[in-house]
Amino acid sequence: MNIAYLGLGIMGAAMAANLAQAGHQVRAWNRSPDRPGAKVAAAAGALIASSLADAVSHSDFVFTCLSDVPDVQQVLIGADGVLEHAKPGAIVIDMSTIGPNAAADLSTQLKNGGLRFLDAPVTGGDVGARAGTLTIMVGGEAADLEECRPLLEVVGKSVIHCGTAGSGQSVKLCNQVLCAVNMLSVSEAFVLADQLGVDRQLILEVCGSGAGGSWALSNLGQRIVNHDFAPAFMIKHILKDLRLVDESIPNSGELLPAAALAGELFKVVARQDGDAGGELGTQAMVLAYGKRR
Ligand code: NAP
Repeated sequence: MNIAYLGLGIMGAAMAANLAQAGHQVRAWNRSPDRPGAKVAAAAGALIASSLADAVSHSDFVFTCLSDVPDVQQVLIGADGVLEHAKPGAIVIDMSTIGPNAAADLSTQLKNGGLRFLDAPVTGGDVGARAGTLTIMVGGEAADLEECRPLLEVVGKSVIHCGTAGSGQSVKLCNQVLCAVNMLSVSEAFVLADQLGVDRQLILEVCGSGAGGSWALSNLGQRIVNHDFAPAFMIKHILKDLRLVDESIPNSGELLPAAALAGELFKVVARQDGDAGGELGTQAMVLAYGKRR
């Protein structure tokens, strides 16, 4: 298959690499060409495109994995973007997290321009992206999904049709509330362990396999124990996701108090070192404890 992959960040680079390794013709493009993700994709056999137009103009499938709503809008429908350069009838598969409203709007605009669109946000973290075991939540036409399924099954182990355009994003926002609130519980278990004089490693070993276990504890707990706050999933991205939750429903603060508290703690960390804290991984929430006042 001829594929364009736009956005070679933590997630996009790993997915582009897996698609190339599976034998597909991948033209990969990143706005900043010197990012490590371009090397990751090239090493797996992807062709690094010199421009967005070069990447998309020969491709039947155009994947994007970018940061926030304005970034996806710029790349898909902005000047010199996908809408301008893609082959008529190509399927655009956006794997970024941008919320249901933006996804539904992009779907309409791309359809009006003769392209097809699926929102296909993912969960499973950097580990899942590298291993090709992501869960992919898809919104859009079922027939378009079936055309893309063989490609999506290269990057994910679970590909689920959630409904019409934007519905993959709705499910993803529910997932992000789970992630944010899970991080509260993981952080608090470690804070309590410190207070009680319990070795943090013991929490991982004992609680990880019991009723208190979770993906967050198993995958990010060890990073907390190791004082490794490098990003798998950046705090600035979960803050963006919690903002999308706020924008998607009225009174989210009242309806979802635990998510609101998680947002408050993530912001405490994000403000560290002149806002550089936003580039830390979400496991750095634990650093906010004791710094809230
Ligand atoms: P990342 O490492 O920060 O990568 C972001 C990518 O978007 C980079 O390639 C960046 O290019 C590109 N980009 C941003 N703005 C752009 C613009 N205006 N024009 C062109 N390119 C632009 O982020 P990530 O962790 O891969 O996450 C990407 C998306 O997946 C986000 O929506 C995130 O919420 C979601 N997600 C992440 C994870 C995770 O565990 N990391 C899990 C699930 C979902 P430059 O290199 O030029 O800046």
